[in-house]
Amino acid sequence: MAIESTETKEKSLNFIEEIIEESIAKGEKRVQTRFPPEPNGYLHIGHAKSICINFGMAKKYGGKCNLRFDDTNPVKEDTEYVDSIKRDIQWLGFQWAEERYASDYFDQLYEWAVVLIKKGLAYVDDQTQEQIRENRGTVSVPGTPSPWRDRSVEENLDLFERMKNGEFADGEKVLRAKIDMAHPNMLFRDPIMYRILHADHHRTGDKWCIYPMYDYAHGQCDSIEKITHSICTLEFDVHRPLYDWFIEALEIYPSHQYEFARLNLTYTMMSKRRLLKLVQEGAVMGWDDPRMPTICALRRKGYTPASVRNFAEMVGVAKRDNVIDLGKLEYCVREDLNKIAERRMAVLNPLKVVITNYEEGRKEYFTAINNPEDEAAGTRQVPFSKVIYIERDDFMENPPKKFFRLQPGGEVRLRYSYLIKCEEVIKDEEGNITELRCTYDPMSGNGSSSDGRRVKGVIHWVSAEDAVEAEVRLFNPLFTTEDPNEGCEEGGKTWEDNLNPESLVKITGYLEPSLKETPIGKAVQFERVGYFCPDTDSTPEKLVFNRTVTLKDSWAKINK
Ligand code: ATP
Ligand code: MG
Repeated sequence: MAIESTETKEKSLNFIEEIIEESIAKGEKRVQTRFPPEPNGYLHIGHAKSICINFGMAKKYGGKCNLRFDDTNPVKEDTEYVDSIKRDIQWLGFQWAEERYASDYFDQLYEWAVVLIKKGLAYVDDQTQEQIRENRGTVSVPGTPSPWRDRSVEENLDLFERMKNGEFADGEKVLRAKIDMAHPNMLFRDPIMYRILHADHHRTGDKWCIYPMYDYAHGQCDSIEKITHSICTLEFDVHRPLYDWFIEALEIYPSHQYEFARLNLTYTMMSKRRLLKLVQEGAVMGWDDPRMPTICALRRKGYTPASVRNFAEMVGVAKRDNVIDLGKLEYCVREDLNKIAERRMAVLNPLKVVITNYEEGRKEYFTAINNPEDEAAGTRQVPFSKVIYIERDDFMENPPKKFFRLQPGGEVRLRYSYLIKCEEVIKDEEGNITELRCTYDPMSGNGSSSDGRRVKGVIHWVSAEDAVEAEVRLFNPLFTTEDPNEGCEEGGKTWEDNLNPESLVKITGYLEPSLKETPIGKAVQFERVGYFCPDTDSTPEKLVFNRTVTLKDSWAKINK
C-alpha cells in the first residue's frame, strides 16, 4: 500500500509543475524563478517552503533561480538580515544563479515611472496619506479622484524630478498610477508607485529619497530579470492584475505571477514582524532561539537540511490555505535522524545504582554500536564501574504487570552490559528513593547470562564517575494554543497572552563521556530518550544540549 501511494505521488505533478510543463509545451525555452525576501528579519519555515519551491522548480526543469532582495523599504532593512538569509538558503542546500537587489534597479524603475508619466498613466498627488485613504472609496462606493489627478505631463515630470531631488518632505507628495478610481479591484484605484522617504538605505545610502512601492517594483524587477514564473503566496492573487497592468503599460518582458498557499503550522507564529517583537522584548534568546520557527533556530536545535526539505516536499504545494500539524515537521526530522544520528547513552533524571558485588575501583569498557541503521558508523567504548545512574522512570517499587524494567527482586539488562538484579531500595527520611543496591551477573557481559535465563527489559545507564554533566534544554511549543491568535479576535487577549511559560525547561543530564566530542549542532540519539545536539552556548567547561525532538512519534500514530 505504502509503496503504491508513493509511486502515484511521484507520477502526479503539483499544480506549479503543471503550469511550468504547460508553458514549456507552449514553447517556453527557459525556466527562471526567483526567491524575493525582504531583508527585514530572519527566514522562517514558511520561507523554507518558498525556497524549496522556487529553487526546486528551477532545478527540476534545468532552469535558474535568482536570490533577489526586495529592499524597497530602507527603514526596516539591514545587512544583518541579508547575510542571515544567504546563510540559511545555502544551509538548506540551494545556490542562487544571481544575487540581485531591487535597489539595483532603482534607476531603471525611475526611468519607467517617467515613461508612464509621459504616457499620461501616472501623476504626482499632493494629498496626504489620510486623504488618499479616505478618497479611495469602498468596495461598493467608487473613489473620489484627487484634485491633482489631471496635472499636465510637463508638471508631473517636473514635480517627480523634484521629488527625486529631495525638494519635498516625507509624505508631501506621492507618484500614483492613473488607472480607475471606480475600479472594483481597490488596488486599481490609482495605486501609489513612489513615496518620499528621507532615509538611509543599507545599499544606496542617501542617493534616493523616493522609494518604489511593492506593486510597482516587484513585477518590473521580475521583468528585468526575465523571470518566467514568479511564484508567490496566495494573498497576492488580487495584485496579479496590477502586476500585469504595469508590464503591459510599459511594454516590457512579460513575467507571470502564480500563487500557492502559504505554510501555516500549528502552535507556530509565522509573522516576521511579531517574531522581531519577541526578539526585541527578550521573550526568546534571539532569532535563533530553538523555540523560534526560523531556519537558523531549526539549525541550532539540531534539524538537518534534508529534514526541512523533506517536510516541504511532504506538505506539497496547495492552492488553498490550510494549517499543517507541527507534528509533521517533527516526524520529518525524526525520520532523517533515525537514519543518520549516532546513538549515545545519557540519563536525564538520574537514580543512583550501586552494584554491591562489583569491585571498588574496577573499570571496564563495553562496546556500543553507534548506529544500528548504519554499519559504517562503527562502535565505541563505554566505561562501566561500581556506581551507575539509570533513569528514575526505569525503576518502580510497586510496578503493574508487564513492567519489564527494574523492580525490587527483579532483573534487567543494562544496554551493552550486564544483567543486574535489584536487592535493596534505599530511601531518605521522607520516603524518597535515593539509591538502589543491586548485584550483577558476572557471566552476563556479552548479552548472555550465567544459566541461559532470558530477561526482557533493557535500560540505558551511565557510569557515575565517568559521566559528564550537561545542561539539557527541553523545548516545548512556544504557544499553548494551536492557533497563536486564538481568543484574540474577541478582544481582551493578545497573541502574546498565548505564549507558553513552559516553552523552555532546563535540567541537568548525565552523559556518557564520548558526548564531550560531539560537534555543535550535530544531533545524536540519546537512546530511549530522544534526539539532542550541543547548543551554540556549549563549551568544553559547560556542556549545553538542546532537545531536537522527542523519540515518540505522536503524528504518525494518530495519522496511520
Ligand atoms: P512575513 O509576513 O513573515 O514578514 P513576508 O511574506 O513579508 O513574510 P518576504 O520576505 O516578503 O516575507 O517573503 C519572501 C518570500 O517568501 C515571498 O515570496 C513570500 O510569499 C514567501 N513566504 C513568506 N511567508 C511564507 C509562508 N508562510 N509560506 C510560504 N511562503 C512564504
Ligand atoms: Mg513580503
